[in-house]
Amino acid sequence: SPQTTRDLIELSERHSAHNYHPLPVVVREARGAWVTDVEGARYLDCLAGYSSLNFGHGNPVILRAAQEQLQRLTLTSRAFFHDRFAAFCQGLAALCGKDMVLPMNTGAEAVETAIKVARKWGYEVKGVTADRANIVVMEDNFHGRTTTIVSFSTDPDARDGFGPATPGFRIVKYGSAEAIREAIDADTVAVLLEPIQGEAGVLVPPAGYLTQVREICDEHDVLFIADEIQSGLGRTGDTFACDHEGVVPDMYVLGKALGGGVVPVSAVVADAGVLGVIKPGQHGSTFGGNPLACAVGEAVVGLLATGEFQARARELGALLHERLRGLIGPAGGHGEEGEQGEQGEQGHGVVAVRGRGLWAGVDIDPSLGTGREVCEALMRRGVLAKDTHGSTIRLAPPLVVSEEELNWAVDRLAEALAEL
Ligand code: PLP
Repeated sequence: SPQTTRDLIELSERHSAHNYHPLPVVVREARGAWVTDVEGARYLDCLAGYSSLNFGHGNPVILRAAQEQLQRLTLTSRAFFHDRFAAFCQGLAALCGKDMVLPMNTGAEAVETAIKVARKWGYEVKGVTADRANIVVMEDNFHGRTTTIVSFSTDPDARDGFGPATPGFRIVKYGSAEAIREAIDADTVAVLLEPIQGEAGVLVPPAGYLTQVREICDEHDVLFIADEIQSGLGRTGDTFACDHEGVVPDMYVLGKALGGGVVPVSAVVADAGVLGVIKPGQHGSTFGGNPLACAVGEAVVGLLATGEFQARARELGALLHERLRGLIGPAGGHGEEGEQGEQGEQGHGVVAVRGRGLWAGVDIDPSLGTGREVCEALMRRGVLAKDTHGSTIRLAPPLVVSEEELNWAVDRLAEALAEL
């Protein structure tokens, strides 16, 4: 059987739908922040499975939990209780400061679940007229790929050709509390947003925005749904990105890192007054809340309860952002790091750096090349990262990355930019 990078990529392309444009690397194994390809080359993973691997590849605590559970019980369906369910739900609810959990598998499923819960809450609790509920969503959002979710995407690639669109969504400008206020009417049941927009390029809203959204939702009896699938669970230096403003949404939507990089685990977390609207037979998932998922999810909750990963993301994130800001300025900085010519003239072609914690969106001058070209140059230097929206490079290493490794990665980025 073929084992070379070229053969495996050729076979993959022949026998799978081309819904992604992967970097030409075929990974075989991984530990911590590092992956190894089929040729034996090693790379620092600066994507971390789109933040699914916050705790690192092969995290020993998560692996042990999974292995023990694999031997004992993996699936019952929710037709029966199982002995791992209660502890996972109780622990995750406590981590979120909420009463209840509705476990699902993928991020998109959890977002769909939040939409269903919000609508039902609207009809049964708020008193919205049947089938009239609307949800306020944001421009440049990314919440997943199902038909209802892509119905309110503003990315033509995500949306076009997949209609008819599901009605009931109002799209407003991200970062504008006023735009939300104007869009809300008596039939509005929820505001759904990412506290930091990941796929859009790690867009951080203006300070005070989340606080204002909370106030507006309270004022109008509207649920605040925070999609923390990518921003949550340690990435930004807090357990949730909403914590940065001390804001508590009505519903947390979680996924990615909740499965520890081992199994798909997602969830909606809210108080009983919200999740309690779902009655037997009204929603479900064969694999949602399965014993293996719960064992892994419980281990993840345990890791987050120590605060250690949040602290690492906070401290190392400050370093990462400081180093990345040092690359801002017109290209021409081929010299040593820190060796500056005329003030402001010796940058590396970076025009903006955004983000929080161990999460950064780096915009490069589009006249120099594409984000894809930078990522290919980074790959040749042993760093795996992924571009988004043309000229943005996203950096989100596992939170177990070391200071030395981060510095090394930024040095490689400076080299890759110089090569353009
Ligand atoms: N929501 C956000 C904020 C995401 O970043 C993603 C995935 O990138 C999703 C939802 C969808 O998750 P999944 O791919 O597991 O369906």
